[in-house]
Order: sequence, then C-alpha cells, then structure tokens
Amino acid sequence: MQENLNPFAIAQAQLDEAAAVLGLDPDMHAFLREPMREFHFTIPVRMDDGRTRTFRGFRVQYNDARGPAKGGIRFHPDETIDTVRALAAWMTWKTAVCDIPLGGGKGGVICNPREMSRGELERLSRGYMRAIARYIGTTKDVPAPDVNTNPQIMAWMLDEYERIIGHQEPGVITGKPGPLGGSAGRGPATALGGIFTIREAAKLSNMSIEGATCAIQGYGNVGSHAHRLAHEVLGLRVVAVSDEFGGIYNDGGLDPAVVGEHVRVNGRVNDCPDTEPIGNSELLEANVAVLIPAAIENQITGQNADRIKATIVAELANGPTTPQADEILADKGVFIIPDFLCNAGGVTVSYFEMVQNTYQFYWDEEMVNRRLDTKMTAAFGAVAQMAAGKKVNNRIAAYLVAVARVAEAVRLRGWV
Ligand code: NAD
Repeated sequence: MQENLNPFAIAQAQLDEAAAVLGLDPDMHAFLREPMREFHFTIPVRMDDGRTRTFRGFRVQYNDARGPAKGGIRFHPDETIDTVRALAAWMTWKTAVCDIPLGGGKGGVICNPREMSRGELERLSRGYMRAIARYIGTTKDVPAPDVNTNPQIMAWMLDEYERIIGHQEPGVITGKPGPLGGSAGRGPATALGGIFTIREAAKLSNMSIEGATCAIQGYGNVGSHAHRLAHEVLGLRVVAVSDEFGGIYNDGGLDPAVVGEHVRVNGRVNDCPDTEPIGNSELLEANVAVLIPAAIENQITGQNADRIKATIVAELANGPTTPQADEILADKGVFIIPDFLCNAGGVTVSYFEMVQNTYQFYWDEEMVNRRLDTKMTAAFGAVAQMAAGKKVNNRIAAYLVAVARVAEAVRLRGWV
C-alpha cells in the first residue's frame, strides 16, 4: 500500500496511537487532533523589478492550554498548510515534553528564498509580520526561526511588530540577534539539546560513544552545529554530512571547521577537500553508529528503513521518520530519539530568551547551556522511564508524557 506522507496525517496517526495506549477520553482526543486556530493570508511584496508578487502565508496556533503558542516560521517553496499544522502539533508536544510553560504553533510562507534578493526577503518578512501582528504577542503566540529563516529575519519581524504597537517588546519573537535581545547560545541550542539526548541514550544503552561513527543529513543551522558539537562534546567521528545538493564522506572523519569554512564560501558541502561524494540516500543507509537526520520530513520511510544500519537515530529534524519506518526500525531494535524530544533544545532556549527579555537580565552562554542540559536530561529521563514502564517505543512514550500534560491543562481550564 502507498505510504501516506502528508505530515499532518502522520502527526494525527501518531497521536491516535498514543491516545489508544493512554486510554484518552474520546472527546479530549478529538479536541487534541485539530489545531485551535489558524490564519491564512496573502502577502503582497514589491519585487526588485517593480512588480508586486503575492505570497501565501500561514500561522497555526495548535494549542495554547499550557501557555502562549510557540513555534518557528518556515520559508519554503513546498510549504503547505498541512506541514504547518503538523509542525504546530509537534511544537505542542515538544513544549509539554520539556515541561516549559508554552503551547504549540508554527508559521510558514510558500516562497523560494534562494531566488529572492535581501531587500525582497526583508519586505516579505515585514509583510508576514504585518499580516499576523494582531494575532500574536508575548502572551498569545511567539514565533522563532525555522528552515530558511534566521536571526536577521527575526530582527526585521521584531522591528515591524514594534513599529505597529509603538513600543519595545523583544519577547514577541525569539532567535533574535544578540544586540536586539537574543539569548546567548540560541544558535546552537537545537543541536546541543540533541547532543545531550544522544549522550543519555548512549548511557542507557551502555554504548561507548567516544570515537563512534556518525552521519548527519542537512547542513543548515541545526546540522552544521550538530557536526561541531558531536565532535566537541561527544567525541563522535562524523564521517558523512549532506545538504540538499548532495553529501560528502571521509572514513577518517570530517573536520567541522574545514567543512564549515567550505560551506561559508561555496554555499554547499559538495567538493569539500579530502572527501568523496555520497548521495543523500546512501548517507542515510551508511554503516554508522549514530544517524542524525537534520533536514526535512519523510526521509526514513517504508522504502529505506530496513537498510538503516545506525544503532541510534537522533531526529534533530521534525518528522524525518514515517510511521511505517518506525515499525521497521523498532523491529530492528534501533534506538530512536524522537523529534519533539531530540530537537527541543531550540524551543527551550527560546523560552529562556523570553524569560531574559521579560527580566531584562541576560545570562552567559555557560548558564544557558547548563540550564538546557538540565531540561533536556529531565525530558529524556521522563520519556525513557515511560517507555520502560509501559513497554512502548520512545516516540509513543514521548507522546504519552506530552499528551497527558496538555490534556491535564485542557481539563483544568474546563475546555473539554
Ligand atoms: P536550515 O534551513 O538552516 O537548513 C536545512 C538544511 O537541510 C540545509 O542544509 C538544506 O540544504 C538541507 N536540506 C533541505 N532539503 C534537503 C534534502 N531533501 N536532503 C538533504 N538535505 C536537505 O534549517 P534548520 O533550522 O537547520 O532546520 C533543519 C530541521 O531542524 C528542520 O526539520 C527544522 O524543522 C528542524 N528544527 C529546527 C530548529 C531550529 O532551531 N532551527 C528547531 C527544531 C527543529
């Protein structure tokens, strides 16, 4: 049977499985299966050639029972409302599994930023903020970066928001540059949080991690930091990395400083000195101890899951593994660190950023990283304990922890 790769259908199927194990009340289940609110809008942007192009944008506030909605904004040519819904659902479970007082949301624009000038991108970013400004705020919904959006884009959006409301409100968006109230450590936070969970997974599986091999798919914000931190913090030997244009391999290990510099100059990992080319599918199936998908959804599917050789799959990307692949990997005994646990470091430090903005008192990177470690280790522990106690896989265990917390808040509010 053809696999359903619609990310929102996948997110709902995952929730359904967890709801059955949890014995979730059917009315609560029905409520948690759908986003609470979503906004669809057009963004007219004056292009450099003088014409106006109309882009489509979305913002989904999936659930805000535990706190203001929280989630990034993605700029991507293949963006769909169902991708945004799925990512917003996963944000809801992510903030809950880490036990931070936020809900889940996500945003997106159908666009190809690689074909846009800096000025066009700035006008699109400001237009996005004008479209959603009245629906967001520090007590309503707080956006952040995601694929193809970055601190500069957050800065333009923050500036536009403050122009509209007429005063400073840095906590309305996270992942900002430091001088505008960004947190120390926010750039590498998603990757570092994932690295802490790999450390915990190795401990739990009595696996020696120092010198073990690793492959990373995706070399953007998350993947490139993961490369450096896997090397620095865990002593992993990263033998393969890739981006959308292809991958590179060196059995002796890839130096993150060399690859990083090559990417800075060339915009891609291809042709980095002292490496051999490797395809994205070959990379996923490489003979490594730790596989880190850090690109986009639906990379490990029913088609390739039986060829995955890694002992640990650390999902820094959102939704890289389909439910069919999950079953195959479970049968093979692969230890999956599920996405909304593995990549929760980003939103955790975004939450720290909001706290620092509120108090106007800023922590150094060491303090941020220490607090991140505490949060990630606790979240990993809660999921591992649930998996052992209920004899379920880690993804379902993460859902059980998160859904129970969100359902409790919904019930306390009297919504269901
Ligand atoms: P990014 O735009 O900085 O980088 C994405 C990388 O993936 C690029 O190197 C791109 O070339 C590569 N890529 C895209 N399509 C690919 C394909 N088909 N095959 C191989 N590589 C491909 O994005 P990012 O912020 O690093 O996000 C990566 C993933 O991590 C996404 O799933 C995102 O939702 C997730 N995530 C990001 C954050 C964050 O803080 N940025 C937080 C949590 C989760």
